[in-house]
This record gives sequence, structure tokens and C-alpha cells, in this order.
Amino acid sequence: MWYIDIMSEAKQFSYLSKLGGHNDMPEPARECTQDEFYHVWKTESVLQEDYRSIVIDSGPMKTVIILFFHDVAFAVVFPDQLVRGSDKIQYHDKPRYFELGCDHDYRELGQKECKDRGIKHWGMCWHEWECKKCGQRKSYDSSG
Ligand SMILES: [Zn+2]
Repeated sequence: MWYIDIMSEAKQFSYLSKLGGHNDMPEPARECTQDEFYHVWKTESVLQEDYRSIVIDSGPMKTVIILFFHDVAFAVVFPDQLVRGSDKIQYHDKPRYFELGCDHDYRELGQKECKDRGIKHWGMCWHEWECKKCGQRKSYDSSG
């Protein structure tokens, strides 16, 4: 197992209240569905990943990969109860998924507010959003 030290990158993951260490689940965390995880993974790039060993509930230590996206992260808890058959590997348990970070409440910033705050705004088709809870910002261009 290998480990990436992401502490130097922690600032960009300000939507987390606690990044944690090699044996910790970042916070806040809530268990989510596989569909919620894939919905983000299929449309956004992973900015950073981290492999950890974490005790989930009271069970044995599990292998967990943390995938950090722009404004959310996910923990994928790998299944580890497997049986090797003659022609395939079969897992007895299922992967579990946790959504990590702020439950964002975004509001759009107007051009004047952006200008007053020194935030670059590119014009009418530009949309700049900011979370009321954690301050995370995201932006997109609706012209293309
Ligand atoms: Zn937020």
C-alpha cells in the first residue's frame, strides 16, 4: 500500500472540516449510494487520491481510497471478503461509499459583487457561485 501526503494540498479541500491522517475518515462524512458517487465521478476530474486504512463502524480495518474532486470528495471502501473460484473472483461483501465535505448551499455572485471582492468575472455568460456555509467557489461559462 502506498500513501500520498496531501497535507500540502489541504487548502484546496477547504470543504472538509477535517482532512485526517492515514487511518482517519475525513469529515464531515455521510454514507451515500453508488449512484451518487458515479454521478460525480463520470463528470468531474479527480484532483487527488489517497489510500488509507480505516476502521469503519467496529469492523476490521478496511482499505479505503479517498477521491478528491473540486468541491466534494468520496471515500470508497473496498470489499475484502473474497473467494477465488476456478474461473473468477467473487466478493462476499459490497463496496461502500461515503460522500465527504460540506453539504454546499451555493448562491450566485453578481458581476458587481465579484468586482468589489476582486474575483475575476468574464462577462454575461460567466457564472460564479459561492457556498454560504464553507466559502467554496465554483464557476462555469454557459456560452459553450
Ligand atoms: Zn460548502
